[in-house]
Amino acid sequence: MKREAISVFDMFKIGVGPSSSHTLGPWRAAQRFACTIRERGLLSKVSKLQVLLYGSLAKTGKGHGTDIAVMLGLSGADPVTFDTAIIAAAIEKIQMEKTLVLEGSHPLPFDPATDLVFLFTETLPYHPNALTFLVQTEDGGSMAETYYSIGGGFIQQEGETPGAAASVQLPFPVDHAGDLLHWCMKTGMSISEVVMENENTWRSEAETRSGVFHIWNVMKDCIYKGCHAQGILPGGLQVKRRANGLNKQLLKGRTYTDFEGWLQAIRAGGASFQYILDWVSCFALAVNEENASFGRVVTAPTNGAAGVIPAVLQYFVAFCDGYYEDKIITFLLTASEIGSIFKKGATISAAMGGCQAEIGVSSAMAAAGLTEVLGGTQRQVMMAAEIAMEHHLGLTCDPIAGLVQIPCIERNTMGAIKAITASQLALQSTPDYAKVSLDAVVKTMWDTAQDMNTKYKETADGGLAVNIPLSLPEC
Ligand code: SF4
Repeated sequence: MKREAISVFDMFKIGVGPSSSHTLGPWRAAQRFACTIRERGLLSKVSKLQVLLYGSLAKTGKGHGTDIAVMLGLSGADPVTFDTAIIAAAIEKIQMEKTLVLEGSHPLPFDPATDLVFLFTETLPYHPNALTFLVQTEDGGSMAETYYSIGGGFIQQEGETPGAAASVQLPFPVDHAGDLLHWCMKTGMSISEVVMENENTWRSEAETRSGVFHIWNVMKDCIYKGCHAQGILPGGLQVKRRANGLNKQLLKGRTYTDFEGWLQAIRAGGASFQYILDWVSCFALAVNEENASFGRVVTAPTNGAAGVIPAVLQYFVAFCDGYYEDKIITFLLTASEIGSIFKKGATISAAMGGCQAEIGVSSAMAAAGLTEVLGGTQRQVMMAAEIAMEHHLGLTCDPIAGLVQIPCIERNTMGAIKAITASQLALQSTPDYAKVSLDAVVKTMWDTAQDMNTKYKETADGGLAVNIPLSLPEC
């Protein structure tokens, strides 16, 4: 039987903030729909286009940039390569001219105020993140397609089997942590080695290594950029960027001109507990401030939680003598496998499971990656992932004003620190005595997700979102 196969490049996707499920997923869905129109030879015949947004995409879509993502995707822009500095101008052009150039070649009338329809009270049964594209053609024809953004930038068209596109036969198929442990024990390979063997199904090892290292480079650029950007985050909450100020404060005037020099300047400040703690927070804040600003980030496994893994990896690079290509690749391969186990056994969508599915999963992934590169055994790696998730169980998603800013940005600092603590606990423990397995915590997370009240699943209808009286000037 073929089982769902998830690659490291499915778990880590290069894209644009602020949300994987509400920005990257809808962007990909819009690209795919536009591509379908072209393939059917209808591109030049489209006369009207509307997009219906349901459930969580309607309720927090404005704050999460769903409207922007859909328009850019329909225009043919790619989230991996599109220049994030011109997003605002591109959207303003569509709004001013009331024209959208479908797939970059067919201009058609499009007024975002009326052609993007936010159905706040309607939810489709399959998944809370749903969107439908409707087109009419000059000859009186019509076409409609519905897509679901199922978390972490993954999308699924209505009627499609989950994971069907990625269904290949891997040498070491893994659905559960127990499967992974079985392969490790049977072969003597580390977790990252098992993952690499599976990745070889899709491409050569050299390609995987270079692609994974590129993922790190995008993470690294994002941290560096976020630590050097100033100002107020977009969206209307007037949230001030903090990574820049913290970076300056911690460096105490030490100078540098590039990332390598910056790394030396960081290391020159010592290694006290407080100093390292502040830096881990700074790295996480930097990424999520970039994410909130529609910057280029790596979905890991989501955008709201995009700062946890880079912060822990940068901690390893800066403070654990970890600046080696091999180790960075090992970290990311192991982290991705843990993320895919959560995706298969539970969810990585906050609209399905609250923030435990985002920050909790990213923390478990980071804890696992860090434990392997610090020399932990396979069972210690899994123990670290289990500990990190165990202490995020029940975490709700209640972003103020639907923006991925409060509590999201600080929450990444918490996820990163918990990952480091979980890793240290596992490294200092004997897994034989562990009472909770990784599979048990995956199941518990999913049970908790199902019991969680809907208002805590990325709706901005509960928690901080209703108790903090912050209003948006432009709403
Ligand atoms: S509260 Fe957590 S899950 Fe919700 S948007 Fe923020 S980071 Fe994502």
